[in-house]
Amino acid sequence: MKRIQGWGNIQTEYLVPESAQAYLAQTVGNPFTLTNVTLESLLKKIPPSNLPSHPGILVDAEERLRHARGQSLNDWVDMCDGLVNTFPDGVIYPNTIEEIRNLIQYAETHKINLIPYGGGSSVVGHLTPPNEGPPTLSVDLGHMNQLMDLNTENLEATFEAGVSGPQLEDHLKKQGYVLGHFPQSWEYSTLGGWIVTRSVGQQSYHYGRIEPLFVTGHLETPSGPLDFPHVPKSAAGPDLRHILLGSEARLGILTQATMRIRRLPEEENFYAAFFPTFSIGVDALREIAQAELNLSMLRLSDPIETETTFQLSGEEKLVSIAKKGLNLFGQGDERCMLIYGLTGNHASNTLADRQLAHLVRNHQGMMVKFYLGEAWIEKRFLTPYLRNTLWDLGYALDTLETALPWHKIQQGRQSIISELKGGLTDEGEKVLVFSHISHVYTNGASLYITYLYRRAPDPHHTLDRWKRLKGAASQAIVAQGGTITHQHGIGMDHQPYLAAEKGPLGMCIIENIIKDLDPNQVMNRQKLIKLGK
Ligand SMILES: Cc1cc2nc3c(=O)[nH]c(=O)nc-3n(C[C@H](O)[C@H](O)[C@H](O)COP(=O)(O)OP(=O)(O)OC[C@H]3O[C@@H](n4cnc5c(N)ncnc54)[C@H](O)[C@@H]3O)c2cc1C
Repeated sequence: MKRIQGWGNIQTEYLVPESAQAYLAQTVGNPFTLTNVTLESLLKKIPPSNLPSHPGILVDAEERLRHARGQSLNDWVDMCDGLVNTFPDGVIYPNTIEEIRNLIQYAETHKINLIPYGGGSSVVGHLTPPNEGPPTLSVDLGHMNQLMDLNTENLEATFEAGVSGPQLEDHLKKQGYVLGHFPQSWEYSTLGGWIVTRSVGQQSYHYGRIEPLFVTGHLETPSGPLDFPHVPKSAAGPDLRHILLGSEARLGILTQATMRIRRLPEEENFYAAFFPTFSIGVDALREIAQAELNLSMLRLSDPIETETTFQLSGEEKLVSIAKKGLNLFGQGDERCMLIYGLTGNHASNTLADRQLAHLVRNHQGMMVKFYLGEAWIEKRFLTPYLRNTLWDLGYALDTLETALPWHKIQQGRQSIISELKGGLTDEGEKVLVFSHISHVYTNGASLYITYLYRRAPDPHHTLDRWKRLKGAASQAIVAQGGTITHQHGIGMDHQPYLAAEKGPLGMCIIENIIKDLDPNQVMNRQKLIKLGK
């Protein structure tokens, strides 16, 4: 069963070793002992539903609570510390396109706000019901999870949009195929959610972001159904699929999607390499990306992330031996770990690995072919559970991300990190900040930053700290010319920074598309951009 307070399955835990707890206490201070509010107290907060009756709508308190928030830090404080104060008025699980069409009609007739719900893994406030305006109905796509068609001639598969990562790959694997979209939220996030938030999977270097994987789909909008042409490529004017990608449910409900798939790879390997400094590692990564090697993943951690990964592994003895070995080979305290993936067949993987090794060595790097790569792949969907454990220990952890051209990566990173690190000094609080580059392109890369600070005894204070840190980092991103989001989307949390990226005319175009497809604003009001009444 899925947790209501925190991430993931209630039975899965990520234990933090005592040595790592000591490291955190030393780095940001001893945490306060804090406990979550009880579920009973949250359930008691839920007011009566304001929805006019409709068959199939569930109004019981637990359903409404489960659909009230996503996974933004703001959402965590709401759900764990009891600040949550808006709830959907009901939840429905449609089974067919016709049912979805009727729901949109119902919303139009009764002026209801619909929030489609995929896996609930949004980290930017996509799912929060507004605190004013019409009642909200959460439309959970969880029953629409079937493979509808597998076309092996075209290498395409059509799925219902509520299919989750594991369900989707399970359908394909049985037949020898793979989509290859593995965001870290894969365990719960869904195809529909990926498409409308422009999500990016960990092996995007081989499989691509969600955009090139998306061939066509069916969108039910308040202005009618919208089908996109089913062609491999087209020059027939602007590509309308791009108004759906990133639309964050403002235009309608995606009911199904046809995706490009691949045959299962014959062989897949994950290994590690080390560079003596981040700056050397970044230069190497740029060269590797521009050499367009046949790799599936590249993830370069900065020195603090590398050290924190070691600390959290719980393998004290192994880490101590590894560090001695790395030191001997010139990979000292500023060492940075690269995890890379090879996906293909034996010959292509061997060739890519050799080419990579050559570039790594040219940059004073060192290849490590045992343990680290395997450990990373084994734990890749477990790592998000660390946030639960840290929260319970008294630490708030959040992440943010951007993408910058290569020539701006180093300065951009410095500037964002320094805003975060110094963001709470006026309170005498320390912030642990670390980063990695995980999606590379020939002209630039994404930057993913994690920051951790102490929760305050007063949850408003914890939230205030987050707002200050997030605000300062977001302003630094804008000032550096980076995108406000490479993969998480806009939701509510990134709205103040969207105009800087799109410009006044761009904002006007987005606004007009929303008004055309949803003239009465029944779709996910106030997310992505706020329209006038
Ligand atoms: C631990 C963790 C790790 C993450 N890692 C990554 C990562 O590696 N890469 C990445 O890109 N993101 C990541 N995310 C963010 C998140 O998983 C993605 O944004 C994901 O695409 C959301 O999918 P979902 O199905 O959970 O959507 P939800 O969170 O349920 O919804 C997100 C938005 O999509 C809308 N929506 C959902 N389904 C539909 C539909 N069928 N039609 C219309 N609108 C719909 C919702 O209304 C909402 O506006 C992570 C989040 C967490 C919590």
